Amino acid sequence: MNFNNILDLALKSNFASDSMDAGLQAEKVQFVDYIINHINNLIFVVDQHNRFVYVNDSFVHKYHYSREALLKMTIGDIDIHFDSSLLNDTAWKESTHKKTLQFRTIHKAKNGSLYPVLVHTNCIEYENQIYNIGVIEDENYIQKLLDTQDGFFILTDGIKLIMANKKMLNFFGFSDFLTFISQHKCISEFFIEENGFLTNQPTWINRALKYRNGNAKAKIKNPSTDEDHIFLVRASPFDKNRFVVTFTDITHAENYKSKLEHLTITDSMTSLFNRRYFNKILLREINRTKRNNAQLAFIMLDVDFFKLYNDTYGHLRGDDVLISIASTIQKHFNRASDFCFRLGGEEFGIICSVNTLNEVYHQAEQLRIDIENLHIEHLHNSVSNYITASIGIAICDGSSTAETLYSQADVELYKAKESGRNKVCMKNVV
Ligand code: GH3
Ligand code: MG
Ligand code: MG
Repeated sequence: MNFNNILDLALKSNFASDSMDAGLQAEKVQFVDYIINHINNLIFVVDQHNRFVYVNDSFVHKYHYSREALLKMTIGDIDIHFDSSLLNDTAWKESTHKKTLQFRTIHKAKNGSLYPVLVHTNCIEYENQIYNIGVIEDENYIQKLLDTQDGFFILTDGIKLIMANKKMLNFFGFSDFLTFISQHKCISEFFIEENGFLTNQPTWINRALKYRNGNAKAKIKNPSTDEDHIFLVRASPFDKNRFVVTFTDITHAENYKSKLEHLTITDSMTSLFNRRYFNKILLREINRTKRNNAQLAFIMLDVDFFKLYNDTYGHLRGDDVLISIASTIQKHFNRASDFCFRLGGEEFGIICSVNTLNEVYHQAEQLRIDIENLHIEHLHNSVSNYITASIGIAICDGSSTAETLYSQADVELYKAKESGRNKVCMKNVV
């Protein structure tokens, strides 16, 4: 097929009409000739085996192959997303009915350059053969736009990564998009599965689209530093099938936020949780106990004759004692279901789940012994030469309120004080 055939085809398909007179026909030929030679768009014709039978000058120029080389190639040699099912013989036949086909893909030139393109094809029958005339629109401006953006910018259909900016490729340690997509098809492959973050599901794009107020977050590990990054993910439709998705690194802001959250629930002197958090956790744990049909223990601890300690050794030494007791408590109650609090002054609280009542009692008893075994001298403690503490324990099965549980533990603590201090008292046991 030569150039005149192309004109012929174009005329036949689009311009020619039997009634057209010869003069007018010649004018049309000139017109089409002008367009084909001056247009920036790339024009090609392939046969039904996807082999190029014609390429225009812009096409040759763009892909850096010689015309002779191109005419020995198929469209699959330049299309990196080439899907043989899209343009195989059956599809050609389908496109014969549909006449036109339009798809977006990435083309690769001989020098390795990648071009995002939009391809329009028009199916034509010529001398009993089927051909597809194609026009290629360069969509490289999208790539350039993405590359100028800070943060990650990607173009996706949700499942497949269509384009990505340099910043994103650099983050994952890739220098070019082609190598990247040969190993990874979808950005969500990198999502770390964790509560509150986008998951690695084919539906991730729909979830990201839903959160217009910016709540969609993804956690991604940086492969070169091994650090987890948190990204704010925003998706918006780009055209019929594609979405632009932006990933803004908010790791610092998120870390700052969680530090602030930590500060608001922590007692600064002992690093245990504070009273405010206690009120919240006690309610939450009682509800959980109710749901799970389980038991919950609340342990209350008060330092013995602490006023006398301060009076004898000074307030600063008193503070050191509270810090040592706090870390001893933490060592004894360090399961994920244990919560240790400084309730105020020299009073501490522990909320923990219960396996057996005896186990809770013995844990508290061991804590009491270990506090005395810190051997912090307290000469005015009438029950020991060292700092000691009294402990009261109350157990609930989810049927009692936070107030009842608290006052029951308080009563037990009072009993421990009254019966001589440096003791553990627990309702129902011992
Ligand atoms: P009891 O055995 O009956 O508990 O006697 P106590 O002296 O420990 O009881 P009381 O409640 O009379 O005294 C508590 C003391 O705890 C009073 C206060 O000086 C001291 N205290 C409260 N908060 C702090 C603190 O943050 N640092 C220091 N060093 N002392 C504190
Ligand atoms: Mg007290
Ligand atoms: Mg006390």
